[in-house]
Amino acid sequence: MAKINLFGFSVDDIGLDGYSTEKHLDNVLEFCAENEVKATFFAVPLSEGKRLDQRSGYVSILRQAVLAGHEVAQHGLEHERFETGIPPDMIMMLPHEGPARKYLAENREKINASHSVEKIRQKLHAGRKIVEDAIGCPVKGFRSPALQSCENMFIALAEEKYQYDSSTYLQKAAWDIINGNDYSVQEITRKRFDQLQTSKNMAELPLTAEYTWYLGKDKFEKCLNLAIHDFESCIQAGIPFVNVCHVSPLQEGEDKLGFELYNKLFKHAGEFSASQQTEIQFQTLSEISDNFFKV
Ligand SMILES: [Zn+2]
Repeated sequence: MAKINLFGFSVDDIGLDGYSTEKHLDNVLEFCAENEVKATFFAVPLSEGKRLDQRSGYVSILRQAVLAGHEVAQHGLEHERFETGIPPDMIMMLPHEGPARKYLAENREKINASHSVEKIRQKLHAGRKIVEDAIGCPVKGFRSPALQSCENMFIALAEEKYQYDSSTYLQKAAWDIINGNDYSVQEITRKRFDQLQTSKNMAELPLTAEYTWYLGKDKFEKCLNLAIHDFESCIQAGIPFVNVCHVSPLQEGEDKLGFELYNKLFKHAGEFSASQQTEIQFQTLSEISDNFFKV
């Protein structure tokens, strides 16, 4: 049997007002169906006080997605910046993060004090329950909003028995491109992947990067080339490739270029795998954490 390359297509911010609409989520599901892609959707339990399990439109779309073989996992609690940790600098420096930057600068001690294992466990637990009530089945995975983290977050996730976390990343360059900064492409290695594994009871599935944030023509080639680089690097390192995109920003760039980037990446992934006598397989992140870490 040919060696399998794992591709975990993941989508963030489901239900987060301003970055997700039901129509846009439908579009993403249609795109996945057209491309025969199984995806993982990270859903926000509470958006501006609205519980996901009480939003009948989202509930019905997400339940259908699960029936179609996709996975729904948990994305924070209220999608605030400092719920379970502190986001990396590359995200804190994004133009729309100005107010959060100011808050962090003035309240760092208070923020750190709110990140005890016990307090984080309470937030994880509350959010998980809402998503589980919305989808009618267990939630197995977690991704923090804005990739915030701290040591206690990983401890709390393992204690709450999440099967996997996906709040770490491998390719900072993508955010430098979004910010319009100079960038150097990071090397992706098995060693870096292994260093991110912090618990023997929970898999860590780092994403590579976000390539389609309101993507315009000016950045299309750069982002596509980076995505191709990252995909090939993951395959060569023998680790799963996990992207991240966001429901509305994926399709609110110029001319739906976000979808076009993924069309090109999927095609390349298939051709590259064939050239290596391997096979590409789209799996949900819980399937990947089951299959990849199985000894
Ligand atoms: Zn998010």
